[in-house]
Amino acid sequence: MATRIPEQRRIGPQMKVGMVSLGCPKALVDSERILTRLRADGYAMSPDYQGADVVVVNTCGFLDSAKEESLEAIGEAIAENGRVIVTGCMGEEAATIRARFPQVLAITGAHQYEAVVEAVHEAAPPTQGPFVDLIPQQDVKLTPRHYSYLKISEGCNHACSFCIIPHLRGKLASRRIDAVLREAEKLVAAGTRELLVISQDTSAYGVDTRHEPREFHGRPVRAHMTDLARELGTLRTPEGRVPWVRLHYVYPYPHVDAVIPLMAEGLLTPYLDIPFQHASPRVLKAMKRPANEARVLERLKSWRAIAPDITVRSSFVVGFPGETEDDFKYLLGWLEEARLDRVGAFRFEPVEGAAANALPDPVPEEIKEERYARLMELTERISAAKLAAKVGRTLPVIVDEVGEADEDGDIGATARSQADAPEIDGQVFLRNVPATLRPGDFAEALIEDADAHDLFGMLTGA
Ligand code: SF4
Repeated sequence: MATRIPEQRRIGPQMKVGMVSLGCPKALVDSERILTRLRADGYAMSPDYQGADVVVVNTCGFLDSAKEESLEAIGEAIAENGRVIVTGCMGEEAATIRARFPQVLAITGAHQYEAVVEAVHEAAPPTQGPFVDLIPQQDVKLTPRHYSYLKISEGCNHACSFCIIPHLRGKLASRRIDAVLREAEKLVAAGTRELLVISQDTSAYGVDTRHEPREFHGRPVRAHMTDLARELGTLRTPEGRVPWVRLHYVYPYPHVDAVIPLMAEGLLTPYLDIPFQHASPRVLKAMKRPANEARVLERLKSWRAIAPDITVRSSFVVGFPGETEDDFKYLLGWLEEARLDRVGAFRFEPVEGAAANALPDPVPEEIKEERYARLMELTERISAAKLAAKVGRTLPVIVDEVGEADEDGDIGATARSQADAPEIDGQVFLRNVPATLRPGDFAEALIEDADAHDLFGMLTGA
């Protein structure tokens, strides 16, 4: 006689969820969390619209252009699948979404993981309990296994006039330091070789909790950027290597100086991503930015004296309302002096709900374009000179991708140096690598050539 499985324990076909993830690395982390929760609840992931029982669209609502992109993505998911749940920053604008797509099943805001998971349960009830699988599964990751984003806080206490993040995501809310460190440890043990620390304002980590210490491995550790950096510097990969740890979205508060010696010691990747946005004191004031550019030039010098290989990446906005030709020339002069390694530039774009929209003297589009081109020309020249100076040096690299052998049997690989964060900076293109090379491998590369963005070379000893 066949064993009767009680109704509630029967396992039917697994429900499948499709995910469209738009926006910044922080949104990507949110998508990973949602998928991790759903998989724990017994869902499978669908790589295409057709195979999905329901599609979650994680939207970005930062710029008007990003909102339009989000709406297009929702429209595509509805056309291709029809059963769509919307989450993310644009979820705050449910009325706009409903007006265009009344058939959307549910809309939730950013970080409302529970609400998204509940909406998925309602749209496609799980056919398998989370406890059926006894083998614990890895978290779902949308980034390659060898690098991972480590989100330390959410929200922001500043009020930059062009930004609506504090409105969308609220005031600074820091994660507990022990939770962050446990996650970092787990990621490194599972194969992560590079951690990318992200937040809206990494230097402000723990300000909201008064840097509350927590016990970690039997000792108290404060929720503070310098303590976090020091602790991350003690991590080792299963092979005993120091993983790369990059700090993103760092404001140059005085305590940032304390992490530079860790870079000199090789415990923290010599890389700082500092969103300066401008240099002219007038424009910075109108932007309500928390920074004093004059001191920053001195600090850059002192950081380079301690950690000569430090890479500083930044982003700038041109054409902010009221920006005069003199302000812009000031910015160019500052950049000549600062000689930043990596620069991203944006033309100012009004964001619905941002205070900057009401500022007088908007800059005409053609002047924005012209300033953007001048800034890019300068920063590319600086970048090309800095990269040319690396030719002939041997640099540590991490391998991202290994290609197929060409007709001569040569295999190429794409790697990054410590100066290159994934997705946003340059790459190191390697020729003639051994067939045994794998993504995530650390190696040493002799740099043979450079252009304005990338390096070219070969592995030493290869
Ligand atoms: S620091 Fe300024 S730009 Fe960054 S999230 Fe906060 S308000 Fe926005």
